[in-house]
Amino acid sequence: NEQLAKEYVDGVFEQLKQQNGHQAEFLQAAEEIFLSLVPVFTQHPEYIKANILSRIVEPDRIISFRVAWQDDNNQVQVNRGYRVQYSNVMGPYKGGLRFHPSVNESIIKFLGFEQIFKNALTGQPIGGGKGGSNFDPKGKSDSEIMRFCQAFMTELYRHIGPDVDVPAGDIGVGGREIGYLWGQYKRITKANESGVLTGKNPVYGGSLARKEATGYGTVYFVNEMLKDANESFAGKTVVVSGSGNVSIYAIEKAQEFGAKVVACSDSSGYVYDADGLDLDAIKEIKEVKGDRISTYVNYRPNATFTEGCTGIWSIPCDIALPCATQNEINGESARTLIANGVKAIGEGANMPSDLEAINEFLEAGVLFGPAKAANAGGVAVSALEMAQDSSRVFWSFEEVDAKLHQIMENIYAESKAAAEKYGYPGNLVVGANIAGFVKVADGLLMEGVY
Ligand code: GLU
Repeated sequence: NEQLAKEYVDGVFEQLKQQNGHQAEFLQAAEEIFLSLVPVFTQHPEYIKANILSRIVEPDRIISFRVAWQDDNNQVQVNRGYRVQYSNVMGPYKGGLRFHPSVNESIIKFLGFEQIFKNALTGQPIGGGKGGSNFDPKGKSDSEIMRFCQAFMTELYRHIGPDVDVPAGDIGVGGREIGYLWGQYKRITKANESGVLTGKNPVYGGSLARKEATGYGTVYFVNEMLKDANESFAGKTVVVSGSGNVSIYAIEKAQEFGAKVVACSDSSGYVYDADGLDLDAIKEIKEVKGDRISTYVNYRPNATFTEGCTGIWSIPCDIALPCATQNEINGESARTLIANGVKAIGEGANMPSDLEAINEFLEAGVLFGPAKAANAGGVAVSALEMAQDSSRVFWSFEEVDAKLHQIMENIYAESKAAAEKYGYPGNLVVGANIAGFVKVADGLLMEGVY
């Protein structure tokens, strides 16, 4: 049976490579998941017969559209927009929108594929999808951002709906962008379907604690890993990459749990503050002024700024939380972290460690919380936002936060149990992949061939 399972998984991956040879990020995400699934197909020959893997890895549909908009000089600009509706087995397609110059079909497919299993892990009724554009928000005025969002939604609206497909934010799409997207959707459809987007401001139908959810969730997840090893955040030195929504609220919760967070970063470099970061300063720089993280040294004269993105991983720490972007930790950075004594990694970003880095961490016995489990708190609270929008009853911050905490504990427990059941005790990469996959596979079996 194991031989058959291996042949099946290899065969599907070979075919995928032939059809998507140039889509490096997508193939990387697929390979990481496929490698975990051999024990599943060994125990479930019925999944092979139903060709579940090919049916999950092939998106339901890929939507791609032109977005034309006018900049502040009245010059017309053109970008590409995407929405990949990957799988609605578990519920409406659900996943963020990313606005970043690197966005292409490979990036959106890797994110959408991951999203299926992440969303299944939350235990909430949400399928997987992802979208975005190669639009670069950096340096754009507020009016340009608004016009771009309106143009983007003018194309996207026909493909989404509160029971069909529910986008949210990701890199480059925060509360401001969701507001503009929502305003345009409402004008076009003349319906107040607030459940069509999540990450909305609580003023008009958003959930309290959504903004904090991904970062808090990552820290809750890592806290579970540490508890199991008789450890905690208290007194630990922590490095967090990024300085966006995920990073800021990971720092906040880690500090609340008694850790000293000494560094964070943006795309131009990182700041190091040996005494522990001043989070109020970071919030002012990023949330109020929209400035570069390098200006942090104006608030804290003893802090230093260093250009470049990988240097942050040479800072000795007990816990590293990569919360910036994909492939920010390669094998070499992983070896440096390990040599400096890192004990735990929690992935707040999507696929921040490449395959070599993951293997280094696992082999060295570092506690490793993979993205699709560790950063699932954001989308989990998005599902809670959908629930509140449908019922028109809204919960307090404490209620949402308590549900988030519970969901992260469940994800940890389920991932750990799946790893044990399928013969990889302690390996949460395999555990999270399997726990998410099995739910979707069972759903597919029950819902008939399509
Ligand atoms: N972009 C986030 C993620 O990667 C959130 C998606 C959502 O809330 O729908 O999971």
